[in-house]
Amino acid sequence: MSYDIAIIGSGVVGLFIAYELAHYRIRVLVIDREVEPGFGVSKGHAGVIHVVQPPFNSLRSKLAVEGNRLYDGIAKRLHVRIRRLSALLVARNLGHLIVLPAVWLILNRVYGKHGFRVRIIGPRELRRREPNVNGLGAVEVEGYGVINSFELVSQLYNFCKLNGVDFALGTEVRGAKVLDDEVVILTNRGEYRAKYVVNAAGLYSADVARLFGDEYRLEFGKGVMLVFWGEQTRNIIAPLQLIPNPKTKGGAVIPTVFGTTIWGPSLSMGERVIGQLMRRTSMS
Ligand SMILES: Cc1cc2nc3c(=O)[nH]c(=O)nc-3n(C[C@H](O)[C@H](O)[C@H](O)COP(=O)(O)OP(=O)(O)OC[C@H]3O[C@@H](n4cnc5c(N)ncnc54)[C@H](O)[C@@H]3O)c2cc1C
Repeated sequence: MSYDIAIIGSGVVGLFIAYELAHYRIRVLVIDREVEPGFGVSKGHAGVIHVVQPPFNSLRSKLAVEGNRLYDGIAKRLHVRIRRLSALLVARNLGHLIVLPAVWLILNRVYGKHGFRVRIIGPRELRRREPNVNGLGAVEVEGYGVINSFELVSQLYNFCKLNGVDFALGTEVRGAKVLDDEVVILTNRGEYRAKYVVNAAGLYSADVARLFGDEYRLEFGKGVMLVFWGEQTRNIIAPLQLIPNPKTKGGAVIPTVFGTTIWGPSLSMGERVIGQLMRRTSMS
């Protein structure tokens, strides 16, 4: 079969690309070695819709802001549960409290220019809004969200299927031949031809790129996420970090759309720091 565009990977990235392309009169194919879409990293994340991302002037940050603005419309259109909330960056000691105005000033400049409101909240308001949180005050950043990522992936898939996108699931890409006017994709289930190929293979994108003669390296880290029954907080609660740790992926107490709570991912920060934020949990 010959396609205009073949997308390798049916995670949230590959599916969103296919969703956009499904609006055009072109032949699109999505290939994934898993038998269900969204079975890579996209099956196991925290579901947070981020705002500005460090480094603040990066493409990643620009796309996070644009993506954030699109989510309400897409969630409504695809009937996916979404909930808007704030992130509270919590001051855990006197040192943090002293620098809170300076943190506000910086974040307000960076986030404020994209329309995300930033404000300082004192201990009384923090206690009232988040009785389970242990802190002396916080900087609140509005505009975050949490989404049901399982619904999102399955609804993107359904939309694509209904709008003419073909899927080759259970199909592993193992090689490629780049010809003058098309690419031959070699898989365990035979060949596919496409004019353009999009590499959306997530953790394995460097391996896939290599099949096409491109070389780059990805660095990996391992962490832990804990999921608790019941809601512990109404907003995303993160520790205020004055010196960003380049190795950590972040880490927070995150309410989900299911009424459960996630702590993590830990990766370098450790559950200990996240745990220190909480007065009591459904576990303790
Ligand atoms: C613990 C954790 C928490 C996270 N929390 C958040 C969060 O709250 N908010 C947020 O925005 N992001 C979060 N992320 C990041 C987010 O989950 C990922 O950025 C996103 O899921 C990546 O999607 P993807 O489509 O690029 O990759 P994947 O979902 O991994 O999809 C890649 C697909 O490619 C397929 N594939 C690979 N190689 C081949 C091959 N050779 N042939 C055929 N198919 C192949 C795989 O089977 C897979 O299905 C988190 C990540 C982690 C690990």
